[in-house]
Amino acid sequence: MTAHDTPANPFLPRRPSEAVDPRTLARFPFLKEASDHVKAQGIRLGDVLTARAWGTARDRGRERVYQTLEDLEKTPPPDVPLSTEQEQWREILSYPISRMIVSAVADSYLVRRYALAEALRASARLAQEDGRFVNHVAAQLDLDFTADGGTARLHFLDFLRCTSTLRGKEWKLVNQAVDGGYVVLRLEKALRVLQNAVQRKIERELPIEIGDDVGEAFADDVRELRRLLVERKARFRQEDLGRGDIGEFPPCMQKILAEIQAHENVAHMGRFAIVAFLHTTGFTNEEIFKLFGDVPDFAVDVTKYQIEHITGTTSPTEYTPPECSTMKSYGICPGGDSLCHQPWMTHPLKYYRYKRRRAPRRPPPPTAAPPAPG
Ligand code: SF4
Repeated sequence: MTAHDTPANPFLPRRPSEAVDPRTLARFPFLKEASDHVKAQGIRLGDVLTARAWGTARDRGRERVYQTLEDLEKTPPPDVPLSTEQEQWREILSYPISRMIVSAVADSYLVRRYALAEALRASARLAQEDGRFVNHVAAQLDLDFTADGGTARLHFLDFLRCTSTLRGKEWKLVNQAVDGGYVVLRLEKALRVLQNAVQRKIERELPIEIGDDVGEAFADDVRELRRLLVERKARFRQEDLGRGDIGEFPPCMQKILAEIQAHENVAHMGRFAIVAFLHTTGFTNEEIFKLFGDVPDFAVDVTKYQIEHITGTTSPTEYTPPECSTMKSYGICPGGDSLCHQPWMTHPLKYYRYKRRRAPRRPPPPTAAPPAPG
């Protein structure tokens, strides 16, 4: 018997067996019943891409995607009216449309932002539902979870899986009430766990396979979204690299930094090297975190944790960056420039110090005006 094969608790509410009503499907379009409902009505997504009748669904689908580039952490996406049948259909269909647009843009940063936006929306809506329905959603997220009144029980393995990116003390397993292998949580706290589960699910599912018809139907949006993404990433780079020393960084560190800020996958050794390098060259933990750019919600805590560990804030060791030979063996030396090819060049820090010594002297920072004579 696995940890998840525990027998059903007869005292807990059963999942609803009746069909979920269309308004609820509109509020939670990632549920299986929502796509079943669309199929059962004979609606083909190919028609939704072009038919005039579905124009408002396409607009709402676009809106879902553009909203992901807003400041979600401060202002979660606003809700929309869902009282009429037309409003409900618009919302139900806008979800697959938005997924198609995100898939057509094919940008991993957009995928993460989109998953976060959808998870925030779902979490706000879920807070207005009763425990029975919350249980239903949790089951579709593959969680061993039961809400009952103001508390919820979540299998500890699911708890660990869904909170691995939440670093506050309040999320550590040792600080939870555990009963028979289940973590007992206030419902409000359990909903935060569910938000992470929704985000993981949506992120895992994307990108979906799309045909040429999707690219054609949303060609202007795909172009505009790519432009906005480039602009957004460039803005971070400009704001965060304003310190002015980056031009003296060795090619390897410049490359890693650019990849992180473009939200590309950087191997663990690359992340380690850049954090250790920045720390050794005098950047504070806060500054290093900022240089990582707009880290999505799920990755904020992991990034902070890694920075604090590597810089010795939460570990007994203050690490220094690897030497060139190690960087080369891990494939994270891009080959280097003429300075890198000097026989004495054995370490990225040597490169930086050499460049610093030869850099033109910068004017001193402005100081307060001297007091007027007399
Ligand atoms: S030779 Fe060394 S300093 Fe130059 S890019 Fe490679 S790892 Fe970096």
